[in-house]
Amino acid sequence: MILGFDVGGSKISMFLSDRNGNILKRSRVRTPDFKRPEDLIEQIVKMSNDAEHSAPSEIETVSVVFAGAVDGKKGIIRSSPNLFGGMEIPLSDILEDILKKTVYIENDATATAISEKIFGNGKAFSNFIYLTLSTGIGGGIFMNNRVYRGATGMAGEFGHMVVDPDGPLCGCGRKGCFEAVAGGKAAVRIMDSLKAYERSECLQKIPREQVEAKEIFECAENGDMVSMEVVASLTKNMEEGIASLINLFDPEAVMIGGGLSNSRKLVFDEIVKNAPKMMATMEREVKFFRTSQVTVELSPMAVVLYEEEIPGFNIERIIKEMKERISLARERKEAYK
Ligand SMILES: [Zn+2]
Repeated sequence: MILGFDVGGSKISMFLSDRNGNILKRSRVRTPDFKRPEDLIEQIVKMSNDAEHSAPSEIETVSVVFAGAVDGKKGIIRSSPNLFGGMEIPLSDILEDILKKTVYIENDATATAISEKIFGNGKAFSNFIYLTLSTGIGGGIFMNNRVYRGATGMAGEFGHMVVDPDGPLCGCGRKGCFEAVAGGKAAVRIMDSLKAYERSECLQKIPREQVEAKEIFECAENGDMVSMEVVASLTKNMEEGIASLINLFDPEAVMIGGGLSNSRKLVFDEIVKNAPKMMATMEREVKFFRTSQVTVELSPMAVVLYEEEIPGFNIERIIKEMKERISLARERKEAYK
């Protein structure tokens, strides 16, 4: 049996699969923020033990993916401002000692890049990048058929590539990072600079302090011209950053995930149209794909399959089962069942 965890800011998603690719359980629990590493470890151990009780046979492998500075190769969480304020923790060793199982850990964006290769559109390519456009901007790199983690596991932090040295302050302490000009928070900043709130009837239905990227995107999706202006300006910044990444990596394909890219017409289609044209000398042939929820959710499993040969594991089966579970949950209007 293989147990996968995706640790978010305030929730943990989990699924249990057998070694043939049948999903036996999928669940999600809300958790308080993990202030100390012990809290995270305790929570994972508890969920593993609970899963063990209901599993028909022994769980041999545990895979944990989460946001933050993770060195997947060494199994270490490195200093991260959002996570435990700068400690370095050998998480996979600690969990292996407690659980007596093989444990893999990985950064969530790197894990999703691996998942694109194993379960998603990345199957067809040897060189691609994955990019998540959300409140933050993260990424993963697949080069020459291998995931690229860099010297310390930090490769693919696309969000902190400085694109405007005089730009707005980023959460990391520098100015004008890609994330600061093209991530979710930049939408509100652009709204202010264009005086969009004052001009938009749709936005004014919401108290100003409650307007975030989500509200601006909703108004834009509903045809509010002023909000569309804001989204267009944000998307332009995304295109600039992605064009630089294409210059840097010369990928065959770019996989795009994250909430902001859900806006297909206003964001994704615009990126597809414009990012490859931004090369100084030539337009390149680059394929673009949206990363599916199935690919994201299967990322802990992808990390295991990337490291281990599992004879008899049926990739098509687990994709189909995950798809069914996601659409079933949607139908029932519940996030998880
Ligand atoms: Zn930054």
